[in-house]
Formats: sequence, structure tokens, C-alpha cells
Amino acid sequence: MLSKPYFDSISLELHISGCPNTCRHCKDDGRRPFGALMSLDDAKWIVKQFSDLTKSDPPVVKGLGVFIHHEPTAHPDFLSLQEYCLKVSDNAEELLGTFSTNGYRIARDDDYLHTQNRLKEQGFNAIKSTLHGLEGHHDWFVCRKGAFRDIFLTAERAAEAGMVVGFNIYLDRYSTKDFVGLIDFIRRFEKNMRDRFGLSEIGISVAVPCFVVGSKRLRVYESKLRPRLSDLEALRPELEQFMKPTYDKYTEGYWMEKVLNQPLDVSMKQLLDEAAGDSDTKFYERNAILAVDRFFDVYERSFYYDWSPVKQGNLKTDGVMAILERVKAYQPREYPDIAPLAQGYGDRNSTLIHTKLHSLRNKWIDAWINAKSVHLCVTRSELIRPKDMWQVRWITEDDHEAFAKPFRKWDNHGWTLEEFRQYQSEGNSFCGVFVDGRLCSIAGLWKRADDVWEVIAVGTSEDYQRQGMAKSCVYFIAEYILQCCEVASYVTRENNIASIRTAQSVGFKYCANIVNNDRWCAYNPRPSVKDVICPLLKGDSR
Ligand code: SF4
Repeated sequence: MLSKPYFDSISLELHISGCPNTCRHCKDDGRRPFGALMSLDDAKWIVKQFSDLTKSDPPVVKGLGVFIHHEPTAHPDFLSLQEYCLKVSDNAEELLGTFSTNGYRIARDDDYLHTQNRLKEQGFNAIKSTLHGLEGHHDWFVCRKGAFRDIFLTAERAAEAGMVVGFNIYLDRYSTKDFVGLIDFIRRFEKNMRDRFGLSEIGISVAVPCFVVGSKRLRVYESKLRPRLSDLEALRPELEQFMKPTYDKYTEGYWMEKVLNQPLDVSMKQLLDEAAGDSDTKFYERNAILAVDRFFDVYERSFYYDWSPVKQGNLKTDGVMAILERVKAYQPREYPDIAPLAQGYGDRNSTLIHTKLHSLRNKWIDAWINAKSVHLCVTRSELIRPKDMWQVRWITEDDHEAFAKPFRKWDNHGWTLEEFRQYQSEGNSFCGVFVDGRLCSIAGLWKRADDVWEVIAVGTSEDYQRQGMAKSCVYFIAEYILQCCEVASYVTRENNIASIRTAQSVGFKYCANIVNNDRWCAYNPRPSVKDVICPLLKGDSR
């Protein structure tokens, strides 16, 4: 049971109405469930479950912020809902100022001045909308005819109501041709509004969307719509006014060079920390973002969008405390460091624009998660001793000076003694090839289950590659496993050709193309996958 201050803050996102648009970059899967509304009473009940926790003594949650997600104005009661959210939010003043909308409701509102006056009373004195190009391209991008007109009618009505107007322009591969025309269109609109309503200067910001792990729309955007350097180069003088610093050089290839260029300089280290989302891990343990839908299902999501939202329970059936216990206990999947991700999934020749490093990290994580695993096995009769076998031995604590140095190009450091002890206590053992006291190649043993032992963590220092060291280490571990188990396992990614070849060179054979449950090899029946048969099925090892 949670009994003391447990979360410093919870940001609660209410999915009240979906969105009339279906933007091609929408990380929140906008549109669905447009038209299926959360009632005002249900929204209040949901918020109360959390706000009560801020009032206990001591409070379980110290601070609560409540937001309306997707397009707020798609809900007919959005003003009342918003009033309520602001009333219960501890950070209300941070939420005030600019009201972001795609203009859907205000453009259809006969009493729009009343609506905007209520917004002003709530503390919003500015309206901001996102544009993707001139009318044709904007409407295509957001998948709704009339969306561009809604935005400018809303902006006109905001000007009439005495509000400030701002636009955020998202660039894509095809909208760049509209860019100069769009800025011109906005400035003419601004002049018209200034003449009619005394509108002040319209603020314009320009951005390129970040990648979000698991977002199907962003995967399509990435391959078909993300601007390339060549798309932005022609706009250099115009972009310089709006993008500071001028992000147009931040290509995937540029970030690859930075990430793989060791040692890192200080600013790059900071960016990497930020990209990894771990600059203050304590903060993320004590602060959570939770989304609640109209079915009362609660999803936890990452601050950096580096994992997909995870359902943690249902408020009606599980209750808020059980859900918070799960949120507290939840450990997102661990990912490889950014350098091996870049090495495995980055493209040095890519000129796709990513203005933030964490956007690329998310893209590489997405590729890593979705890359198929391949599973290889070897039995005693199939194991092949390399002809040019290096001298391999188990690594012990006495080797701490050797394993403290990086073993691979992208490793910033090797292991500390504490890390080494930790791995050993978790059942992992490591072997290596040493040359003049230097650890040049390693492989590990992981006891996945009592009868499923696996070769892991194969790597060779760059200066010693292509000399058969990794092969020798893999053989060493596999031979040890086969003294205890009938089969040795080896799991790698399908695109890690070097790893697959190393395993095959000592007799490992494909066991399955995809390992959904990677323990199956130890149990009967052992399935064949396509034409691939598990070596154990051959019966020659029994
Ligand atoms: S307007 Fe916003 S919420 Fe709606 S689809 Fe577009 S990005 Fe998503």
C-alpha cells in the first residue's frame, strides 16, 4: 500500500473526444475516437480519483496537472471541462497563456465571441494553430477538407476577440515548396487583421516532428515525408528567420558522425543524456504521465516517447491505488546504448532532418524493437572447433584493469568491478581473448533457464577484428554449455550478419526465423519454422 509521498507529480491526460483531423505525423494517433465522447461527469470522476490523493496526509501525489488531449474543442463541453481541469491542476498557471487548437469548434461556433471571452476569463490570451502548408497541402496532410479554412477563420475570430495569434509550421518533404507562399499568406492575413482589429504581430515558429517509438504514422512519415537536407537548402535564408539555431544541417548522417565519434565532447555528452532520457533518472521515477480514455483505462507513457504507452489498469475495476503501484513498479524495457543503436540502425548517408537527437534515438529504438530476432542452435555433434583457435579463458575479478577499458568501438567504458560482480550475481559469465594483458574479444554465457543456456555479448575490439577471436570465444562458451545442456542457443538480430556468420562458423544452425517465445527450444514439441528445423529434431544428438 502506498503510504507516503509517492509521486512528486502526475500529469493526467484526458482523452475526451479524439480529433477531427488525422494528421500524417500525429504521434497520438489523432482522430480516433473522434465523436465518442467522455462525459463531463466521467471526466470529473476520473480527475477526482487522482486529486483526492493530493489531499491525503501525507499526500500520495504532491502535484497534479490535468490536460485535455487531442483536439480539446472537438468536445461540446470543452470549456466546462477545461475550467474544471484548471481548477484542480496544481500547475494551472503553466497551462495558461496560449490555447492550442486546430480551430474545429471556434470556426463552427455561432457564439464564438462568447466562447473566446470564456477562454480569456480562464486565462488564455493567445490562440495557436499548426500549419502544414498552403490550403491544398495542409488539408491533404491533416486528411480533412476545410481544415486550413477553419484555422484562419479561428485566427480571424481570435483577432476580433482581442486575442494574440500564433502559428507553428511543421515542415515535410512537400510542404517546403509552400513555405515562402505560406509566410506571405500569413503576413497578408496579419496586415488585414491589424487593419480591422488591431492585431499585434503574429508569432511564427517552424519545426520538424520528432520520431515516436511505435507510431505507425511516424514510420510512414519517416520514409515518405520527413524533409531531406536538399528540401530545406533552397529555403535557407527564409528558414534562418524562424529556426534558431538553423537546424537544417541536422541530418541523420550528421548525428551518426557525432554519436560514433569517440570520445564525446561535453556538449555531445549532454545531448546524449537528454536523448537517453536519463539525465535525472530520479526525476522520472517520481513523476509520471498517465493518459485515461473514456473506458477508464489508464496508460503510462514516456516523457521522451521512447516507449509506447503501456496499459496499467482500469480505474473502475482496479482502482487508482493498484494502478499507481503498477506505475511505480513498471520498468520500461532496456535498450542498447545510443552508439550501438546508431551502428546497427543508423544510416550515415541519410540526409533526413532530425532536429533533436532523441528523435533519432527513438527511430533507432523502433527499428531495434521491430528487427526480427534469429535463433541459432548447436548440438555436441555439430559444434566445430575453429582451426585457428585463440587461447580463451574465463574472465575473473583479477582482470578488472583489463575489463575497465572499452572492448568495442562504441563503448564509452568497459565494466566497473561492481558491474562485473552484478553480472555474475545475475548468472552471467564471460570469457575473453587477452593479448599482452589487453582484453581484445569477449563472449558471455547467460543461463536463460535451467536447460536453456545462451551465448551472449559477443564483441571484439576494433583493432583485433577479422582474426577469428570472436569465433574462438563463441566456441569456448558453446562447448561449455554443451557439457551441461543438450543444445547451446544463440540469439541475434536478423540484420546482424557478422554475428550470424560468427555463430555459423562454429556449427550453429538456424533454429527459427522469429523467436516469439525464445525459450521454446528447450521444450517439446519443437516447431519447425518454414523450412528451418531445430537441430534437436534431427535426433542425432540424443
Ligand atoms: S490536430 Fe493534433 S491531435 Fe489532431 S490529428 Fe493532428 S496532431 Fe493529432
